[in-house]
Amino acid sequence: MDKKRLLFEKLRLSDINCGYSYQAEAKGNNELRIKSYNPTDGTLLAEVTSAGDHEYKQVCANAHRAFMKWRDTPAPVRGQLIRDLGNILREYREPLGELISLEMGKIRSEGIGEVQEMIDICDFAVGLSRQLYGLTIASERPAHRMAEQYHPLGTVGVITAFNFPTAVWAWNAAIAVVCGNSVIWKPSELTPLCAVAVNRLAADIANRHNIDGLFGLLCGTGNIGQKLAEDPNVSLISFTGSVSTGKKVAVTVSERLGKMILELGGNNALIVSDKADLDLALKATVFGSVGTAGQRCTTTRRLIIQRSVSEAFTQRLLKAYRSVRIGNPLQEGILMGPLVNRQALDNMQKAIKIALEQGGTLLFGGNPLPDIGPYFAEPAIIKMPAQTDIVKSETFAPILYVIEFDTFEQALHLHNEVRQGLSGALFTRDLQEAELFTSSCGADTGIANINIGTSGAEIGGAFGGEKETGGGREAGSDAWKAYMRRQTNTINRSGDLPLAQGGKMDV
Ligand code: NAD
Repeated sequence: MDKKRLLFEKLRLSDINCGYSYQAEAKGNNELRIKSYNPTDGTLLAEVTSAGDHEYKQVCANAHRAFMKWRDTPAPVRGQLIRDLGNILREYREPLGELISLEMGKIRSEGIGEVQEMIDICDFAVGLSRQLYGLTIASERPAHRMAEQYHPLGTVGVITAFNFPTAVWAWNAAIAVVCGNSVIWKPSELTPLCAVAVNRLAADIANRHNIDGLFGLLCGTGNIGQKLAEDPNVSLISFTGSVSTGKKVAVTVSERLGKMILELGGNNALIVSDKADLDLALKATVFGSVGTAGQRCTTTRRLIIQRSVSEAFTQRLLKAYRSVRIGNPLQEGILMGPLVNRQALDNMQKAIKIALEQGGTLLFGGNPLPDIGPYFAEPAIIKMPAQTDIVKSETFAPILYVIEFDTFEQALHLHNEVRQGLSGALFTRDLQEAELFTSSCGADTGIANINIGTSGAEIGGAFGGEKETGGGREAGSDAWKAYMRRQTNTINRSGDLPLAQGGKMDV
Protein backbone atom coordinates (compact mmCIF):
# COMPACT_ATOMS: atom_id res chain seq x y z
CA MET A 1 0.00 0.00 0.00
CA ASP A 2 1.47 3.40 -0.88
CA LYS A 3 2.33 5.91 1.84
CA LYS A 4 -0.46 8.33 1.00
CA ARG A 5 -3.09 5.61 1.14
CA LEU A 6 -1.72 4.39 4.47
CA LEU A 7 -1.79 7.90 5.89
CA PHE A 8 -5.34 8.48 4.66
CA GLU A 9 -6.37 5.19 6.22
CA LYS A 10 -4.85 6.11 9.56
CA LEU A 11 -6.73 9.40 9.49
CA ARG A 12 -9.96 7.79 8.31
CA LEU A 13 -9.85 9.70 5.04
CA SER A 14 -10.04 6.62 2.83
CA ASP A 15 -13.49 7.53 1.57
CA ILE A 16 -11.99 10.67 0.06
CA ASN A 17 -9.07 8.75 -1.40
CA CYS A 18 -11.46 6.32 -3.07
CA GLY A 19 -13.15 9.18 -4.85
CA TYR A 20 -16.15 9.29 -2.54
CA SER A 21 -16.64 12.80 -1.32
CA TYR A 22 -17.29 13.19 2.41
CA GLN A 23 -19.96 15.71 1.61
CA ALA A 24 -21.52 13.64 -1.16
CA GLU A 25 -24.85 13.95 0.54
CA ALA A 26 -24.72 17.72 0.17
CA LYS A 27 -27.32 19.02 -2.22
CA GLY A 28 -27.01 22.13 -4.29
CA ASN A 29 -23.51 22.91 -5.37
CA ASN A 30 -22.49 19.30 -5.88
CA GLU A 31 -20.51 19.95 -9.01
CA LEU A 32 -18.12 22.38 -7.36
CA ARG A 33 -15.11 20.50 -6.15
CA ILE A 34 -11.99 21.68 -4.43
CA LYS A 35 -8.88 19.98 -5.59
CA SER A 36 -6.18 19.39 -3.02
CA TYR A 37 -2.68 19.23 -4.47
CA ASN A 38 0.60 18.06 -3.01
CA PRO A 39 2.87 21.12 -3.30
CA THR A 40 5.95 18.90 -3.26
CA ASP A 41 5.25 17.38 -6.69
CA GLY A 42 2.12 19.15 -7.90
CA THR A 43 0.07 15.95 -8.02
CA LEU A 44 -3.59 15.77 -7.09
CA LEU A 45 -4.11 14.38 -3.60
CA ALA A 46 -7.88 14.31 -3.48
CA GLU A 47 -11.05 16.16 -4.32
CA VAL A 48 -13.47 17.48 -1.76
CA THR A 49 -16.97 18.65 -2.59
CA SER A 50 -17.64 22.24 -1.77
CA ALA A 51 -20.54 22.98 0.57
CA GLY A 52 -23.65 24.03 -1.31
CA ASP A 53 -26.53 26.21 -0.12
CA HIS A 54 -28.31 23.26 1.42
CA GLU A 55 -25.29 22.21 3.40
CA TYR A 56 -24.56 25.77 4.47
CA LYS A 57 -28.04 26.02 5.99
CA GLN A 58 -27.78 22.62 7.60
CA VAL A 59 -24.39 23.25 9.20
CA CYS A 60 -25.56 26.64 10.51
CA ALA A 61 -28.80 25.17 11.89
CA ASN A 62 -26.90 22.34 13.60
CA ALA A 63 -24.42 24.82 15.07
CA HIS A 64 -27.27 26.94 16.41
CA ARG A 65 -28.99 23.94 17.96
CA ALA A 66 -25.71 22.88 19.56
CA PHE A 67 -25.17 26.37 20.93
CA MET A 68 -28.63 26.50 22.56
CA LYS A 69 -27.68 23.43 24.61
CA TRP A 70 -24.00 24.20 25.08
CA ARG A 71 -24.42 27.73 26.42
CA ASP A 72 -26.12 26.32 29.51
CA THR A 73 -23.61 23.52 30.06
CA PRO A 74 -21.27 24.40 32.96
CA ALA A 75 -17.98 25.72 31.65
CA PRO A 76 -15.83 23.10 33.48
CA VAL A 77 -17.98 20.39 31.82
CA ARG A 78 -17.32 22.09 28.49
CA GLY A 79 -13.65 21.88 29.38
CA GLN A 80 -13.92 18.09 29.64
CA LEU A 81 -14.87 17.92 25.97
CA ILE A 82 -11.82 19.96 25.06
CA ARG A 83 -9.66 17.70 27.25
CA ASP A 84 -10.89 14.74 25.17
CA LEU A 85 -10.18 16.69 21.99
CA GLY A 86 -6.61 17.33 23.16
CA ASN A 87 -6.21 13.64 23.96
CA ILE A 88 -7.39 12.43 20.57
CA LEU A 89 -5.06 14.95 18.92
CA ARG A 90 -2.23 13.45 21.00
CA GLU A 91 -3.17 10.04 19.62
CA TYR A 92 -3.12 11.32 16.03
CA ARG A 93 -0.15 13.65 16.45
CA GLU A 94 2.15 11.98 13.93
CA PRO A 95 -0.26 11.15 11.09
CA LEU A 96 -1.89 14.56 11.34
CA GLY A 97 1.53 16.23 11.31
CA GLU A 98 2.40 14.23 8.20
CA LEU A 99 -0.84 15.19 6.49
CA ILE A 100 -0.07 18.86 7.17
CA SER A 101 3.35 18.37 5.55
CA LEU A 102 1.85 16.53 2.63
CA GLU A 103 -0.89 19.03 1.86
CA MET A 104 0.71 22.33 2.91
CA GLY A 105 4.39 21.57 2.33
CA LYS A 106 5.94 22.50 5.69
CA ILE A 107 8.59 20.07 6.94
CA ARG A 108 7.50 17.10 9.03
CA SER A 109 8.76 18.47 12.37
CA GLU A 110 6.85 21.71 11.73
CA GLY A 111 3.74 19.71 10.80
CA ILE A 112 3.97 17.77 14.05
CA GLY A 113 4.72 21.03 15.88
CA GLU A 114 1.49 22.41 14.50
CA VAL A 115 -0.45 19.49 15.97
CA GLN A 116 1.39 20.05 19.26
CA GLU A 117 0.15 23.62 19.15
CA MET A 118 -3.41 22.31 18.90
CA ILE A 119 -2.78 20.06 21.90
CA ASP A 120 -1.26 22.94 23.88
CA ILE A 121 -4.21 25.23 23.25
CA CYS A 122 -6.59 22.46 24.30
CA ASP A 123 -4.68 22.12 27.60
CA PHE A 124 -4.83 25.88 28.05
CA ALA A 125 -8.55 25.93 27.31
CA VAL A 126 -9.27 23.15 29.82
CA GLY A 127 -7.70 25.28 32.59
CA LEU A 128 -9.51 28.33 31.27
CA SER A 129 -12.85 26.54 31.57
CA ARG A 130 -12.58 27.07 35.34
CA GLN A 131 -11.33 30.64 35.08
CA LEU A 132 -13.84 32.62 33.03
CA TYR A 133 -13.80 35.27 35.71
CA GLY A 134 -15.92 38.38 35.85
CA LEU A 135 -15.56 41.26 38.32
CA THR A 136 -17.55 42.39 41.29
CA ILE A 137 -17.93 46.14 41.37
CA ALA A 138 -18.61 48.38 44.40
CA SER A 139 -22.07 49.89 43.95
CA GLU A 140 -22.69 53.49 45.06
CA ARG A 141 -26.21 52.54 46.18
CA PRO A 142 -26.98 50.85 49.50
CA ALA A 143 -27.81 47.13 49.47
CA HIS A 144 -26.96 46.83 45.79
CA ARG A 145 -24.51 44.50 44.19
CA MET A 146 -22.81 45.04 40.86
CA ALA A 147 -21.09 42.33 38.91
CA GLU A 148 -19.75 41.68 35.49
CA GLN A 149 -20.37 38.34 33.82
CA TYR A 150 -19.19 36.79 30.58
CA HIS A 151 -21.76 34.85 28.56
CA PRO A 152 -21.34 32.75 25.42
CA LEU A 153 -21.84 34.56 22.12
CA GLY A 154 -23.39 32.03 19.75
CA THR A 155 -21.86 30.52 16.64
CA VAL A 156 -18.28 31.49 15.88
CA GLY A 157 -17.23 31.40 12.21
CA VAL A 158 -13.54 30.58 11.86
CA ILE A 159 -12.04 31.33 8.43
CA THR A 160 -8.45 30.15 8.11
CA ALA A 161 -5.40 30.56 5.87
CA PHE A 162 -3.46 27.75 4.17
CA ASN A 163 -0.18 28.16 6.03
CA PHE A 164 -1.42 27.00 9.43
CA PRO A 165 -4.11 24.68 8.15
CA THR A 166 -5.12 23.33 11.57
CA ALA A 167 -3.51 25.29 14.44
CA VAL A 168 -5.38 28.52 13.77
CA TRP A 169 -8.68 26.65 13.89
CA ALA A 170 -7.64 25.11 17.22
CA TRP A 171 -6.62 28.47 18.73
CA ASN A 172 -10.13 29.64 18.01
CA ALA A 173 -12.18 26.48 18.45
CA ALA A 174 -10.75 25.31 21.78
CA ILE A 175 -11.30 28.72 23.38
CA ALA A 176 -14.66 29.36 21.69
CA VAL A 177 -16.02 26.02 22.86
CA VAL A 178 -15.03 26.34 26.52
CA CYS A 179 -16.61 29.79 26.34
CA GLY A 180 -19.89 28.07 25.40
CA ASN A 181 -20.05 28.69 21.66
CA SER A 182 -20.41 26.43 18.66
CA VAL A 183 -17.91 26.70 15.80
CA ILE A 184 -18.18 26.64 12.01
CA TRP A 185 -14.87 26.29 10.18
CA LYS A 186 -14.19 27.53 6.65
CA PRO A 187 -10.67 26.30 5.92
CA SER A 188 -8.45 27.43 3.07
CA GLU A 189 -9.38 25.83 -0.24
CA LEU A 190 -5.70 24.85 -0.54
CA THR A 191 -5.78 22.60 2.54
CA PRO A 192 -9.22 20.97 2.83
CA LEU A 193 -7.92 17.52 3.77
CA CYS A 194 -6.27 18.76 6.96
CA ALA A 195 -9.57 20.37 7.88
CA VAL A 196 -11.64 17.27 7.15
CA ALA A 197 -9.28 15.06 9.17
CA VAL A 198 -9.21 17.36 12.20
CA ASN A 199 -12.88 18.24 12.11
CA ARG A 200 -13.87 14.58 11.96
CA LEU A 201 -11.92 13.92 15.14
CA ALA A 202 -13.52 16.94 16.80
CA ALA A 203 -17.02 16.01 15.63
CA ASP A 204 -16.55 12.47 17.01
CA ILE A 205 -15.61 13.90 20.39
CA ALA A 206 -18.63 16.20 20.33
CA ASN A 207 -20.80 13.25 19.40
CA ARG A 208 -19.45 11.29 22.39
CA HIS A 209 -20.45 14.24 24.57
CA ASN A 210 -23.95 14.27 23.01
CA ILE A 211 -23.53 17.63 21.38
CA ASP A 212 -23.79 17.13 17.64
CA GLY A 213 -23.23 20.17 15.48
CA LEU A 214 -20.76 21.78 17.88
CA PHE A 215 -18.00 21.63 15.25
CA GLY A 216 -19.29 22.41 11.77
CA LEU A 217 -17.18 22.39 8.62
CA LEU A 218 -17.81 24.16 5.33
CA CYS A 219 -15.18 23.44 2.69
CA GLY A 220 -15.09 25.73 -0.30
CA THR A 221 -13.69 28.88 -1.77
CA GLY A 222 -13.81 32.44 -0.50
CA ASN A 223 -17.52 32.63 -1.44
CA ILE A 224 -18.38 30.56 1.59
CA GLY A 225 -16.21 32.74 3.79
CA GLN A 226 -18.02 35.74 2.38
CA LYS A 227 -21.38 34.13 3.17
CA LEU A 228 -20.33 33.51 6.77
CA ALA A 229 -19.12 37.10 7.07
CA GLU A 230 -22.52 38.34 5.84
CA ASP A 231 -24.55 36.03 8.04
CA PRO A 232 -26.15 37.84 11.00
CA ASN A 233 -26.57 34.49 12.74
CA VAL A 234 -22.80 34.14 13.00
CA SER A 235 -22.02 36.00 16.20
CA LEU A 236 -18.28 36.33 15.71
CA ILE A 237 -16.09 36.03 12.65
CA SER A 238 -12.50 35.10 13.37
CA PHE A 239 -10.63 35.65 10.14
CA THR A 240 -7.01 34.73 9.43
CA GLY A 241 -5.54 35.57 6.05
CA SER A 242 -4.09 38.29 3.88
CA VAL A 243 -4.60 42.01 4.45
CA SER A 244 -6.50 42.38 1.17
CA THR A 245 -9.06 39.66 2.00
CA GLY A 246 -9.19 40.85 5.60
CA LYS A 247 -10.21 44.32 4.46
CA LYS A 248 -13.15 42.84 2.52
CA VAL A 249 -14.18 40.78 5.52
CA ALA A 250 -13.92 43.83 7.77
CA VAL A 251 -16.29 45.82 5.52
CA THR A 252 -18.78 42.95 5.27
CA VAL A 253 -18.90 42.27 9.01
CA SER A 254 -18.92 45.97 9.90
CA GLU A 255 -21.91 46.53 7.62
CA ARG A 256 -23.98 44.31 9.91
CA LEU A 257 -22.20 45.67 13.01
CA GLY A 258 -20.95 42.18 13.76
CA LYS A 259 -18.04 41.18 15.93
CA MET A 260 -14.76 40.08 14.39
CA ILE A 261 -11.19 39.10 15.12
CA LEU A 262 -8.76 39.87 12.30
CA GLU A 263 -5.38 38.13 12.10
CA LEU A 264 -3.83 39.45 8.91
CA GLY A 265 -0.46 39.69 7.22
CA GLY A 266 2.83 40.60 8.85
CA ASN A 267 6.07 42.16 7.68
CA ASN A 268 8.29 41.25 10.54
CA ALA A 269 11.71 42.69 11.20
CA LEU A 270 14.60 41.38 13.22
CA ILE A 271 17.03 44.06 14.41
CA VAL A 272 20.63 43.07 15.07
CA SER A 273 22.50 45.59 17.20
CA ASP A 274 26.27 45.65 17.36
CA LYS A 275 25.78 44.70 21.02
CA ALA A 276 24.04 41.43 20.12
CA ASP A 277 25.11 37.85 20.66
CA LEU A 278 25.64 37.32 16.94
CA ASP A 279 25.54 33.51 17.15
CA LEU A 280 22.04 33.67 18.57
CA ALA A 281 20.97 36.32 16.11
CA LEU A 282 22.23 34.21 13.20
CA LYS A 283 20.28 31.12 14.24
CA ALA A 284 17.13 33.16 14.78
CA THR A 285 17.46 34.89 11.42
CA VAL A 286 17.85 31.63 9.51
CA PHE A 287 15.01 29.90 11.35
CA GLY A 288 12.73 32.92 10.99
CA SER A 289 13.38 33.56 7.32
CA VAL A 290 13.51 30.10 5.71
CA GLY A 291 11.22 28.19 8.12
CA THR A 292 8.00 27.05 6.40
CA ALA A 293 9.62 28.40 3.20
CA GLY A 294 8.88 31.96 4.32
CA GLN A 295 5.16 31.22 4.57
CA ARG A 296 4.55 32.06 8.20
CA CYS A 297 2.69 35.19 9.17
CA THR A 298 5.60 35.74 11.57
CA THR A 299 8.37 35.00 9.04
CA THR A 300 11.40 37.30 9.33
CA ARG A 301 11.14 39.39 6.18
CA ARG A 302 13.44 42.28 7.10
CA LEU A 303 16.88 42.09 8.69
CA ILE A 304 17.72 45.52 10.08
CA ILE A 305 21.38 45.37 11.01
CA GLN A 306 23.91 47.78 12.46
CA ARG A 307 26.38 48.77 9.78
CA SER A 308 29.44 47.96 11.90
CA VAL A 309 28.50 44.24 12.12
CA SER A 310 26.63 43.93 8.85
CA GLU A 311 29.36 42.63 6.53
CA ALA A 312 30.64 39.91 8.86
CA PHE A 313 27.11 38.85 9.85
CA THR A 314 25.94 38.71 6.23
CA GLN A 315 28.87 36.48 5.29
CA ARG A 316 27.91 34.05 8.05
CA LEU A 317 24.28 34.26 6.94
CA LEU A 318 25.22 33.37 3.38
CA LYS A 319 27.16 30.37 4.64
CA ALA A 320 24.17 29.24 6.70
CA TYR A 321 21.82 29.68 3.72
CA ARG A 322 24.13 27.54 1.55
CA SER A 323 23.72 24.71 4.04
CA VAL A 324 19.90 24.78 4.06
CA ARG A 325 18.67 21.47 2.70
CA ILE A 326 15.73 21.96 0.39
CA GLY A 327 13.51 19.07 -0.67
CA ASN A 328 10.62 16.79 0.15
CA PRO A 329 9.30 18.12 3.48
CA LEU A 330 8.54 14.60 4.70
CA GLN A 331 12.14 13.52 4.28
CA GLU A 332 14.52 13.46 7.25
CA GLY A 333 17.08 16.30 7.37
CA ILE A 334 15.19 18.66 5.06
CA LEU A 335 14.90 22.21 6.41
CA MET A 336 12.85 23.86 3.70
CA GLY A 337 9.99 22.53 1.60
CA PRO A 338 8.15 24.02 -1.37
CA LEU A 339 6.01 27.09 -1.80
CA VAL A 340 2.35 26.25 -1.77
CA ASN A 341 1.61 26.65 -5.49
CA ARG A 342 2.56 28.23 -8.81
CA GLN A 343 1.13 31.60 -7.87
CA ALA A 344 3.27 31.76 -4.73
CA LEU A 345 6.38 30.98 -6.78
CA ASP A 346 5.44 33.61 -9.38
CA ASN A 347 4.83 36.19 -6.63
CA MET A 348 8.29 35.47 -5.26
CA GLN A 349 9.92 35.91 -8.66
CA LYS A 350 8.03 39.15 -9.26
CA ALA A 351 9.03 40.57 -5.88
CA ILE A 352 12.71 39.78 -6.47
CA LYS A 353 12.58 41.53 -9.84
CA ILE A 354 10.95 44.62 -8.32
CA ALA A 355 13.42 44.68 -5.42
CA LEU A 356 16.31 44.68 -7.89
CA GLU A 357 14.64 47.48 -9.87
CA GLN A 358 14.33 49.41 -6.62
CA GLY A 359 18.08 49.27 -6.08
CA GLY A 360 18.49 45.94 -4.31
CA THR A 361 21.46 43.60 -4.69
CA LEU A 362 20.72 39.90 -4.77
CA LEU A 363 23.16 38.34 -2.31
CA PHE A 364 21.75 34.84 -2.40
CA GLY A 365 19.37 32.52 -4.21
CA GLY A 366 15.91 33.29 -5.49
CA ASN A 367 16.00 30.80 -8.37
CA PRO A 368 13.22 28.29 -8.93
CA LEU A 369 14.33 24.68 -8.40
CA PRO A 370 12.24 22.71 -10.91
CA ASP A 371 14.47 19.66 -10.57
CA ILE A 372 13.24 19.23 -7.02
CA GLY A 373 9.61 20.06 -7.70
CA PRO A 374 7.39 22.56 -9.52
CA TYR A 375 7.07 25.11 -6.66
CA PHE A 376 10.50 24.91 -5.05
CA ALA A 377 12.84 27.87 -4.93
CA GLU A 378 16.08 28.87 -3.28
CA PRO A 379 15.52 31.27 -0.40
CA ALA A 380 16.66 34.77 -1.33
CA ILE A 381 18.66 37.43 0.49
CA ILE A 382 18.51 40.91 -1.01
CA LYS A 383 20.47 43.86 0.32
CA MET A 384 18.46 47.07 -0.02
CA PRO A 385 19.80 50.63 -0.03
CA ALA A 386 16.62 51.79 1.71
CA GLN A 387 13.25 50.51 2.84
CA THR A 388 11.54 50.78 -0.55
CA ASP A 389 7.91 49.94 -1.42
CA ILE A 390 8.54 46.28 -2.11
CA VAL A 391 10.21 45.88 1.29
CA LYS A 392 7.16 47.43 2.89
CA SER A 393 4.77 44.86 1.42
CA GLU A 394 4.39 41.24 2.47
CA THR A 395 5.47 38.73 -0.17
CA PHE A 396 4.54 35.33 1.22
CA ALA A 397 7.83 33.65 0.25
CA PRO A 398 11.38 33.20 1.60
CA ILE A 399 12.81 36.59 0.70
CA LEU A 400 14.91 38.34 3.33
CA TYR A 401 15.64 42.02 2.80
CA VAL A 402 18.76 43.37 4.53
CA ILE A 403 18.81 47.05 5.50
CA GLU A 404 21.63 48.72 7.44
CA PHE A 405 21.41 51.33 10.19
CA ASP A 406 23.82 53.47 12.18
CA THR A 407 21.86 54.55 15.23
CA PHE A 408 19.33 52.65 17.28
CA GLU A 409 16.74 55.37 16.63
CA GLN A 410 17.10 54.71 12.90
CA ALA A 411 16.59 51.00 13.52
CA LEU A 412 13.38 51.63 15.45
CA HIS A 413 12.13 53.98 12.75
CA LEU A 414 12.73 51.36 10.04
CA HIS A 415 11.12 48.70 12.19
CA ASN A 416 7.90 50.68 12.58
CA GLU A 417 7.85 52.22 9.11
CA VAL A 418 5.65 49.49 7.55
CA ARG A 419 1.85 49.23 7.54
CA GLN A 420 1.78 45.77 9.13
CA GLY A 421 2.36 45.28 12.85
CA LEU A 422 2.56 41.62 13.78
CA SER A 423 5.93 40.60 15.20
CA GLY A 424 9.32 42.20 15.77
CA ALA A 425 12.56 41.11 17.38
CA LEU A 426 15.68 42.76 18.71
CA PHE A 427 18.99 41.06 19.38
CA THR A 428 21.05 42.99 21.89
CA ARG A 429 22.75 42.59 25.24
CA ASP A 430 22.24 46.26 25.99
CA LEU A 431 19.59 46.82 28.64
CA GLN A 432 18.64 50.28 27.45
CA GLU A 433 18.10 49.16 23.87
CA ALA A 434 16.05 46.18 25.03
CA GLU A 435 13.90 48.28 27.34
CA LEU A 436 13.36 50.95 24.71
CA PHE A 437 12.32 48.34 22.13
CA THR A 438 9.58 46.96 24.40
CA SER A 439 8.53 50.36 25.77
CA SER A 440 5.68 52.61 24.62
CA CYS A 441 8.22 54.40 22.42
CA GLY A 442 9.53 51.16 20.92
CA ALA A 443 8.20 48.48 18.57
CA ASP A 444 4.61 49.06 17.44
CA THR A 445 3.95 45.35 16.85
CA GLY A 446 1.63 43.01 18.77
CA ILE A 447 4.61 40.77 19.51
CA ALA A 448 8.00 42.25 20.42
CA ASN A 449 10.80 39.88 21.39
CA ILE A 450 14.27 40.32 22.82
CA ASN A 451 16.91 37.78 21.82
CA ILE A 452 14.23 35.54 20.29
CA GLY A 453 13.27 35.63 16.63
CA THR A 454 10.01 36.86 15.12
CA SER A 455 8.35 33.46 14.68
CA GLY A 456 7.50 30.51 16.91
CA ALA A 457 5.12 32.05 19.45
CA GLU A 458 3.88 30.10 22.47
CA ILE A 459 0.13 29.70 22.92
CA GLY A 460 0.13 31.19 26.44
CA GLY A 461 0.45 34.76 25.17
CA ALA A 462 -2.19 36.67 23.25
CA PHE A 463 -1.29 36.38 19.56
CA GLY A 464 -1.97 39.09 17.00
CA GLY A 465 -0.83 42.40 15.66
CA GLU A 466 -1.54 46.06 15.17
CA LYS A 467 -2.17 48.35 12.18
CA GLU A 468 -2.97 46.42 8.99
CA THR A 469 -2.43 43.14 10.82
CA GLY A 470 -5.93 43.80 12.08
CA GLY A 471 -5.71 44.30 15.85
CA GLY A 472 -7.18 40.91 16.84
CA ARG A 473 -5.81 38.69 19.59
CA GLU A 474 -6.12 34.93 19.81
CA ALA A 475 -4.90 32.02 21.95
CA GLY A 476 -3.67 32.81 25.47
CA SER A 477 -3.81 35.57 28.08
CA ASP A 478 -7.30 37.14 28.11
CA ALA A 479 -7.96 36.64 24.38
CA TRP A 480 -10.95 34.48 25.45
CA LYS A 481 -12.93 37.63 26.22
CA ALA A 482 -13.47 38.22 22.49
CA TYR A 483 -15.46 34.97 22.34
CA MET A 484 -17.95 36.07 25.00
CA ARG A 485 -20.39 38.87 25.57
CA ARG A 486 -19.91 40.99 28.66
CA GLN A 487 -22.87 41.79 30.86
CA THR A 488 -23.02 44.22 33.76
CA ASN A 489 -25.54 43.23 36.44
CA THR A 490 -26.90 45.39 39.24
CA ILE A 491 -28.93 43.54 41.86
CA ASN A 492 -31.02 45.45 44.35
CA ARG A 493 -31.94 43.84 47.71
CA SER A 494 -32.81 47.13 49.45
CA GLY A 495 -36.59 47.21 49.08
CA ASP A 496 -36.19 50.77 47.85
CA LEU A 497 -35.30 52.23 44.47
CA PRO A 498 -32.41 54.65 44.98
CA LEU A 499 -31.22 56.19 41.73
CA ALA A 500 -27.65 56.37 40.54
CA GLN A 501 -25.83 59.70 40.85
CA GLY A 502 -28.10 60.48 43.83
CA GLY A 503 -30.95 61.30 41.45
CA LYS A 504 -34.45 61.93 42.85
CA MET A 505 -37.75 61.14 41.18
CA ASP A 506 -41.12 61.28 42.99
CA VAL A 507 -43.63 58.85 41.48
P1 NAD B 1 -6.16 34.52 1.89
O1 NAD B 1 -6.55 35.87 2.35
O2 NAD B 1 -5.97 34.28 0.44
O3 NAD B 1 -7.27 33.44 2.35
C1 NAD B 1 -7.62 33.26 3.71
C2 NAD B 1 -9.01 32.65 3.82
O4 NAD B 1 -9.98 33.61 3.38
C3 NAD B 1 -9.25 31.41 2.93
O5 NAD B 1 -9.97 30.47 3.67
C4 NAD B 1 -10.09 31.98 1.79
O6 NAD B 1 -10.92 31.01 1.18
C5 NAD B 1 -10.93 32.99 2.54
N1 NAD B 1 -11.57 34.05 1.73
C6 NAD B 1 -11.23 34.48 0.47
N2 NAD B 1 -12.07 35.49 0.10
C7 NAD B 1 -12.92 35.70 1.13
C8 NAD B 1 -13.99 36.61 1.36
N3 NAD B 1 -14.35 37.51 0.45
N4 NAD B 1 -14.65 36.56 2.54
C9 NAD B 1 -14.28 35.67 3.49
N5 NAD B 1 -13.28 34.76 3.33
C10 NAD B 1 -12.61 34.79 2.16
O7 NAD B 1 -4.84 34.12 2.71
P2 NAD B 1 -3.85 32.87 2.49
O8 NAD B 1 -3.07 33.07 1.25
O9 NAD B 1 -4.59 31.58 2.69
O10 NAD B 1 -2.88 33.04 3.76
C11 NAD B 1 -1.73 33.82 3.79
C12 NAD B 1 -1.97 35.12 4.51
O11 NAD B 1 -2.50 34.90 5.82
C13 NAD B 1 -0.68 35.91 4.73
O12 NAD B 1 -0.93 37.26 4.49
C14 NAD B 1 -0.36 35.66 6.19
O13 NAD B 1 0.46 36.65 6.78
C15 NAD B 1 -1.73 35.62 6.79
N6 NAD B 1 -1.75 34.92 8.07
C16 NAD B 1 -1.88 35.67 9.19
C17 NAD B 1 -1.85 35.04 10.43
C18 NAD B 1 -1.98 35.83 11.70
O14 NAD B 1 -2.22 35.22 12.72
N7 NAD B 1 -1.83 37.14 11.68
C19 NAD B 1 -1.68 33.65 10.51
C20 NAD B 1 -1.56 32.93 9.32
C21 NAD B 1 -1.59 33.58 8.10
